[in-house]
Amino acid sequence: MTIELKGMDGAAVQVAPEALAAFKAAFRGPVLAPADAGYEEARKVWNAVIDRRPGLIARCTGTMDVVQAVRFAREHRLLHSVRSGGHNIAGLAVCEGGLMIDMSLLRGVWVDAAERTARAQAGCTLANLDRETQLHGLAAVLGFVSETGIAGLTVGGGFGYLTRQHGWTCDTVLSMEVVTAEAKVVRASETENPELFWALRGGSGNFGIVTSFEYRLFPVGPEILGGAIAWRGEDAAQVLDAFREFSAAAPRELTMVAALRIAPPAPWLPREIHGKPMAAIFVCYSGKPEDGEALLAPLRKIGSPVADIVTRRPYVQMQSLLDATQPKGRRYYWKSHYLGGIGRDAIQLAAEHASRIVSPHSAILMFQIGGALNELPPDHSPAGNRDAEYVLNIAGAWEKPEDDAANIQWAKDTFEAMKPCSTGGTYINFLTQEEGADRIAAAYGRPTLDKLAALKRQWDPDDFFRHTKGLTG
Ligand SMILES: Cc1cc2nc3c(=O)[nH]c(=O)nc-3n(C[C@H](O)[C@H](O)[C@H](O)COP(=O)(O)OP(=O)(O)OC[C@H]3O[C@@H](n4cnc5c(N)ncnc54)[C@H](O)[C@@H]3O)c2cc1C
Repeated sequence: MTIELKGMDGAAVQVAPEALAAFKAAFRGPVLAPADAGYEEARKVWNAVIDRRPGLIARCTGTMDVVQAVRFAREHRLLHSVRSGGHNIAGLAVCEGGLMIDMSLLRGVWVDAAERTARAQAGCTLANLDRETQLHGLAAVLGFVSETGIAGLTVGGGFGYLTRQHGWTCDTVLSMEVVTAEAKVVRASETENPELFWALRGGSGNFGIVTSFEYRLFPVGPEILGGAIAWRGEDAAQVLDAFREFSAAAPRELTMVAALRIAPPAPWLPREIHGKPMAAIFVCYSGKPEDGEALLAPLRKIGSPVADIVTRRPYVQMQSLLDATQPKGRRYYWKSHYLGGIGRDAIQLAAEHASRIVSPHSAILMFQIGGALNELPPDHSPAGNRDAEYVLNIAGAWEKPEDDAANIQWAKDTFEAMKPCSTGGTYINFLTQEEGADRIAAAYGRPTLDKLAALKRQWDPDDFFRHTKGLTG
């Protein structure tokens, strides 16, 4: 039977049965149509606000499958999307009516402990990579929630507990294997296709499909000092002030994250605070635990904490400490700014807008990232934003579609109010569905955007990879 898929220009494309059969014969992994078992699970991404139904899902089992999927999409001029971890807030991984090229079955990791490098396939989650590298007491610079995909995170920039020491995730990548818009397999590194390599370190999914990444690794743990301290919401301003002071003076082995939200019914929090506003600081000290204990002692005595779970723990446990707050299948809407520092205005505004949170799952988060990334030249990689010291994420999260409007409005209001605190820059990976050219331009800055656009014309002149935050800003 002929199937109808959405084309690159939005019009319907008829794919003849023989063409589909030929694609399936050339492709080793499952190719799922809407009626097939497994389709529903494969199409769903982390953010339940995104409810799209691809016409076909091609579940790749190796580089050859990726090549076949790109050839098939090219030949029929199909709209397509690339899914790795499926965690992009804007749902870029899933397209309506087109072909979803699904990388999530590709989870191989190979560690070279002597060289302190790891090659990881693009479908890995952060947890998959951390698990293998921690076997050797090593770690790549990854993000804060272990179920996130390494691929989208890395090609968009990437930051986490090790960023202060080593820079954006993409600054620590050594090479990538890439399937280009012409379905060619190339390597990208400082010495092989260096301009493509540059573009893929922050330029997001606009230049090719990365099948594997080679990361530089760093000695970490396996045991670190980390956890969280929580206070009542009334103390939010005092807690943020302590966060400002401590984080500004902290050595790079210490990374701190501040969170203002409604206390969830988590076992580490006392019952009497459940459902009430709280302020928390998450910490990870990746140097010698005893040094971290001395360093953190004064912070733990600020005000009257209601809970304190800072302890020696495995690094992989620290990497998943926030997971339960970000489950797949909730409705999410984020707005974000980079901050050059935390002033008293930012503290006041954050505390004020946290008091107006409408959902028990939402939060105002400040991630400390300043350090190594500020020392690289502005054009080292498109992730740029070398003046950023903190990431402010206004993270709306809720359960029911009827609550969309109120939660989105809260995030937008908070974002607007806190605009004066921003560097003017933002993180490409945190842009929501409706954020377009002006916010993409803010993420890169004009010189980087122009250079990316020129490389796009060279590597993908037909804008084949278009289900992305594009480079038209
Ligand atoms: C709960 C949560 C926590 C997060 N925490 C952090 C954090 O701590 N630090 C941080 O930096 N970011 C964080 N992020 C943002 C994260 O980096 C982005 O959401 C990123 O897009 C996730 O990657 P993914 O592979 O899961 O993306 P997907 O949704 O699978 O893909 C998103 C897009 O990335 C591109 N892409 C994906 N795979 C490839 C590939 N193989 N080759 C080329 N392009 C590709 C494509 O354009 C694709 O459409 C978080 C996101 C969530 C939802």
